[in-house]
Amino acid sequence: MEFFRKIEEKWQKEWEKAKIFETDPDLKKPKCFITVAYPYPNSPQHIGHGRTYTLADVHARYMRMRGYNVLLPMAFHYTGTPVLAMAKRLADNDKGLVADFVNVYKIPRDKLKDLADPMAMACYFHQEIKSGMKEIGYSIDWRREFTTIDPQYNRFIEWQFQKLREGGYISRGSHPVGWCPKDGNPVGQHDTVGDVEPEIGEFTVIKFRQGELVFPTATLRPETVFGVTNIWLNPKSKYVRADVDGEQWIISQDSVEKLKHLNRKVKVLATFEGKKLIGEYVENPATDMRIPIFPADFVDPKNATGVVMSVPAHAPYDYVALENIRKEPSRLKQYGLATEIMDSVKPIGMIEVPGYSEIPAADAVKKMNIQEQTDPKLENATKEVYRHEYHNGKLRHNTGKYYGSSVAEAKDRVKEDLIREGKATPMYELLNRPVLCRCKTECIVKIFEDQWFINYGKPEWKALAHKNLDNMEILPEELRQEFNNVIDWLHEKACARKSGMGTRLPWDKDWIIESLSDSTIYMAYYTIVKHIKQHKIQPAKLTDEVFDYIFLGEGEVRQIAKKTDLDVKILEKMHNEFMYFYPLDSRHSGRELIPNHLTFMIFNHTAIFPQEQWPRQIVANGHVMMEGSKMSKSFGNIIPLREALAKFGADPVRLGVLSTAELLQDADFSHTIAKSMSDRLERLYRFAFELTKTSRKKVPKRLLTAMDRWMLSRLQEHVKEATKAMDKLAVRKAIHTILYEMDQDFQWYQKRASGKEGNRKATIAHVFSEVLDAQTRMLTPVAPHMCEELWEMMGGKGFVAQTTWPSPDESKVDINAEESEALIKSVIEDTQNIMKATGQKPRKICYYAASQWKWQTWSKALEKSVSAKVAQKELMKELMAKPDLRANAQKVSKFIGQIIDELNTMPEERKRRLLKIGSIDEAQVLKEAKDFLERELNAKISIYEEEETERYDPKSRAQLARPYRPAIFIE
Ligand SMILES: [Zn+2]
Repeated sequence: MEFFRKIEEKWQKEWEKAKIFETDPDLKKPKCFITVAYPYPNSPQHIGHGRTYTLADVHARYMRMRGYNVLLPMAFHYTGTPVLAMAKRLADNDKGLVADFVNVYKIPRDKLKDLADPMAMACYFHQEIKSGMKEIGYSIDWRREFTTIDPQYNRFIEWQFQKLREGGYISRGSHPVGWCPKDGNPVGQHDTVGDVEPEIGEFTVIKFRQGELVFPTATLRPETVFGVTNIWLNPKSKYVRADVDGEQWIISQDSVEKLKHLNRKVKVLATFEGKKLIGEYVENPATDMRIPIFPADFVDPKNATGVVMSVPAHAPYDYVALENIRKEPSRLKQYGLATEIMDSVKPIGMIEVPGYSEIPAADAVKKMNIQEQTDPKLENATKEVYRHEYHNGKLRHNTGKYYGSSVAEAKDRVKEDLIREGKATPMYELLNRPVLCRCKTECIVKIFEDQWFINYGKPEWKALAHKNLDNMEILPEELRQEFNNVIDWLHEKACARKSGMGTRLPWDKDWIIESLSDSTIYMAYYTIVKHIKQHKIQPAKLTDEVFDYIFLGEGEVRQIAKKTDLDVKILEKMHNEFMYFYPLDSRHSGRELIPNHLTFMIFNHTAIFPQEQWPRQIVANGHVMMEGSKMSKSFGNIIPLREALAKFGADPVRLGVLSTAELLQDADFSHTIAKSMSDRLERLYRFAFELTKTSRKKVPKRLLTAMDRWMLSRLQEHVKEATKAMDKLAVRKAIHTILYEMDQDFQWYQKRASGKEGNRKATIAHVFSEVLDAQTRMLTPVAPHMCEELWEMMGGKGFVAQTTWPSPDESKVDINAEESEALIKSVIEDTQNIMKATGQKPRKICYYAASQWKWQTWSKALEKSVSAKVAQKELMKELMAKPDLRANAQKVSKFIGQIIDELNTMPEERKRRLLKIGSIDEAQVLKEAKDFLERELNAKISIYEEEETERYDPKSRAQLARPYRPAIFIE
């Protein structure tokens, strides 16, 4: 888009030259510090990334126009596995990745060799992403840019970790973590394919026995052990007999490595297929009942031990699998089993739930019409049964000492008792498996020993985090509960690993702090990095004492300066700048960072800083879809950001990603939307260009007609609406108001104004420019380049980016003019409807405005209808007090009958508004618009008062006139 690129380049250069986004403390203005999660430079950005950053920029630009001294900085996150794993894949010549880089992102093939080095990759994409951010016009203060491997930043992170340790927030010990067996590293959300957080759960492994042999069945519902009818093995999977901590276990071959990672001593003694054991019997340790081993395809040998207990009464999967066998005995015969074996296997109901039969699983399966054990609906059936049992279920007689207790209670008691009696043992497993590491290996759980953790499980710390959250604005508010939940369930998080780029743990240099732990309070670093760069301060001088002074005001500045050989003035400046910009006013990111980064930010701020410095707002947004589908490499619908900018222009892309969805919804970017946005901007441009050719001097108020006053009145309403929306960052709504609703009114005004400019030319031009001025300002945060161009064209002073957001001018609000104009619109609409219904092409149209007594009656009725239903009798009595109405008593009574329903159902707000107006002179309003009506309806127009004696009214239509609804006659 040559047209847009030229304008964009021009203004980006001008902004940079004038340094208008370089923000220093300014005590004359309120400050606003906005940040957005810094990117991992491990690939170019695509249009999906554009949304979060554009929203933060729009926020920054809006606040600037509202009079704030706004700081929006940016940095780059080199640390951690995202860069490392991507470089590794390239080094391994991963075909898919190479294809993406070459075909989607157009990276020269010979460049790829260099990028296999993590550092080279980070540097390359750092520059690539930065160029994109400039090309899209983000108002970033680039003087504050840094990377997370800068030695000065490393010092900052070391200081942070010392503080955490001193505060008792760091622990060392053994905890289960998500783990990649190939890399030998813990994995978090940022290390997995699809950014999935590995969820660790604790299964209970119940030991069913056959003599010395143990069949360890893993379950999340130990209380159902009383309802077990059989054991499931997958006949086609490999199983082993192994010595596990001195016992002989039968387990899937896949579980051997897992158990080893959970610190169990495992020695495999024999390997065989599951079918070998089908038909044998084992003993239930809770009931001593003898039960058979059956085959089931749904048993996943990779899940826990690969041995599953069957509770058909309460587990829909088990119920369906058992029914399948019952109906098709051949499923048993192939293992040499007689079908009579099934006679003794009946579901054992052991939980009583209101609304369900003795076999709840059967009810659910029947309700959802499930036939096969492969039916995906089984997942829902399982959840539903569990939900009801958990909340309303009570254990039945056949559960011994647990009889009568709730499922929630029995779950823990049964588990504890079985473990104490040596009949069960706990086992960690991923609940949302399979989770793939970025290296494509399936992640498992490891008990990580002697590892360093940040202890997010500490109750006092959780209390502080809640306190911060409670005092913070969350946009949109509906996400608050999600934050509350995350704070509650977070526990010890592994914070360091042995490889990769980043900061070493200051007290144990073998460890490198991982990327979700070195990115929690870095917003503070933005406030001082400018000075560090400007004065080339060496990392060695940035001692813990220096940071204590800058961020916490601790220590004596002269002594610290002397000790570190730093200038007192510079130290003071850094401290003052931090104190000026902190606390953080707004943090932006995608909503997928709520379970980790955003909540970690809250925790760490409360650990390091006093309450006055805790963050004040979090804004989280949804994803971007492409032409209605999820953006994904496999769909081939990823558009690199810079390619989109070159193709559509920056402003259309900005509008495109923000105009289709409010915060939480998925935005839907499409070629059509980008094209329609660029068309709109071009139209605006051409209009402004034409306008500049006419004189746009201010005209005295008395020259404004009702139509002009209408336009200016509507403008105030739009300003109010757009401001309200922007304050909540409802940018879609704001764009809708500024571009669409305003445009609609404006087009109407243009239509009304055209053809009879004459001596009104200057007045109309004045109204045009007043509207365009406000529209340009309000569009500036979203389409900054085009708006600078328009602003310049219209002779605006300075940059529009630095001018003020418009505020509604109450003196221009004119509801009388608005209702008059609405009357004209509805009269045209009604006339056209009649024309359509009758198929008539009229020569002549007559309008009859309601008579005075009708207005009097209507107004009185309206008055009485505010906050009360109008009673016809009472109203009539009051009206009859007026002599002129009394003379027309019969007509008045009939008229009331016609209007009473409408008034009684009219919205209160509308009633109050009409009441404010009193009455309007409809005949006069229509007469003023006569030329326009004739043009629009292509007929000769006559306007009469209802009871005018000279009127032309062959069909006696005039008597149908009502206030705001003139009668119409067409011929
Ligand atoms: Zn891996």
